[in-house]
Amino acid sequence: MTATHPQPASLQAWADVDLDAYRENIRTLAALAPDAQLMAVVKANAYGHGLAPVARTAREAGADWLGVATLDEALALRAAGDEGPLLCWLATPGADFAAAARHDVEVTASSPEQLGEILAADALPRVQLKVDTGLGRNGAFGDQWTDLVAAAVRATAGGAQLTGVWSHFACADEPDHPANDAQETRFHEAVDELRAAGLEPGLRHLANSAALMTRPSSHLDLVRAGIATFGLPPDPAMPHDVDLTPVMTLRARLAAVKRVPAGQGVSYGYRHVTERETTLGLVPIGYGEGVHRAATGRAHAWVHGHRVPVVGTICMDQMVVDLGDLPAERGDVVTLFGPGAGGEPTAVEWAEASGTIAYEVVTGLGGRIQLTHSSDHGGIR
Ligand SMILES: *Cc1c(COP(=O)(O)O)cnc(C)c1O
Repeated sequence: MTATHPQPASLQAWADVDLDAYRENIRTLAALAPDAQLMAVVKANAYGHGLAPVARTAREAGADWLGVATLDEALALRAAGDEGPLLCWLATPGADFAAAARHDVEVTASSPEQLGEILAADALPRVQLKVDTGLGRNGAFGDQWTDLVAAAVRATAGGAQLTGVWSHFACADEPDHPANDAQETRFHEAVDELRAAGLEPGLRHLANSAALMTRPSSHLDLVRAGIATFGLPPDPAMPHDVDLTPVMTLRARLAAVKRVPAGQGVSYGYRHVTERETTLGLVPIGYGEGVHRAATGRAHAWVHGHRVPVVGTICMDQMVVDLGDLPAERGDVVTLFGPGAGGEPTAVEWAEASGTIAYEVVTGLGGRIQLTHSSDHGGIR
C-alpha cells in the first residue's frame, strides 16, 4: 500500500514518486540474490522517476552500485553528490573519459577501439569489458572479444584497472527462451578466455530485472535491476512471485468539468460521441507529457474512487474523461495510474492501452509534469 501524501494545491499535473516503495523494492530484490551485489539502474532520469532523489534512496536502501547508460548521466550523479560505485556503458567517440576517471566513474569498453579511446584519456581508468553474448546490440561480438581481451592485457600492463566483465540478455523476460541458456554459456566462455589470457575478470554480471527474478544461475557477482526497482514487471506475462510495489502515481487536477447532452462529439475528430447526458472532465495531461495518443479510446483514469474512461482523442496538452454522474468539480484530483492497490489503473494497463511496455510509459513522461518525491519519513522532498 502506498500512503496518500498531501499534494500542494498549486500542482496541476504531477507524478508522485513513492520513495518508501522504491526502498522496499530494492530490499526485496537484493534478498533474491543474497550472494550478489545489487546495482540499481537509474538511467534515463531513473526511468522517469527523477535521478537524484531515486539515486539517494537506492544508496540508503543498500544498493552497492548505481548504473547509468551515458557518461553525462554518471557525471550528473556526481554533481548531485553521489560518491559510491558507479558504472556507465554507452559512449560515442569523443566522450570525456578523463572526466570519468576524475570523478571515479567506471566505464565500459565494448570494443578494442573504445578501450583505446578510454586509455587515450591519459588517466588511469577503472574499466569493465562488455561482451555481446547474443543480444546483437552493444558489446564485443565473436572474434572481437578475443581482440578486446588482447587489448585489455596491454591496457592492464599499462596501469588500467580491469574491474568487471559483463553482458546483457535479449530474452530474459521469457524465462524458457533458449537464448537465455545460450547467452549464459557464451558468457562463461568469454570469462574463461579472459582468465586464460591471465586477467582476473573482477565483477562478472549478466542479470537484469527479469533474470534476477527468474534465473538464479545468472546472478553471478552482481545483478543490475532497473524496472523491477520501480515496482513494474519486465513483462506482465512473465511468471514470478516477487512482491513489488509500483513507485509512480500520475495525477492531475481537473481543469474543467461540464455537463453535456447525449450525442455530443468529444475532442478532435469526434472519435467519441456521448451516448447519454453525462459529465466530462478535462485532464491537463497529453502527449506533450509523453502520454501516448495511441491510448485514445482504450485507457482509464480514477476519480473519487471510481474508474472512468478516457474518451475522445488524447491531445497535446489534455485529455477528457467521462465522469458519468459522479459529483466532481474543477480542481478535483484525477489519477491516471498508480500502484493499483485501491483499484486505480496501473502503468501496465496504460502500456497495454498504448501498445507498449510499462518501461516506456514511465520513462517517457515529461513535458509539464512535475515530479514530486514523497516518503513517510519526510513528506514531499
Ligand atoms: C537498462 C539496463 C538494465 C536494467 O534492465 P531492467 O530490465 O530495467 O532491469 C540492465 N543492464 C543494462 C545494460 C541496461 O541497459
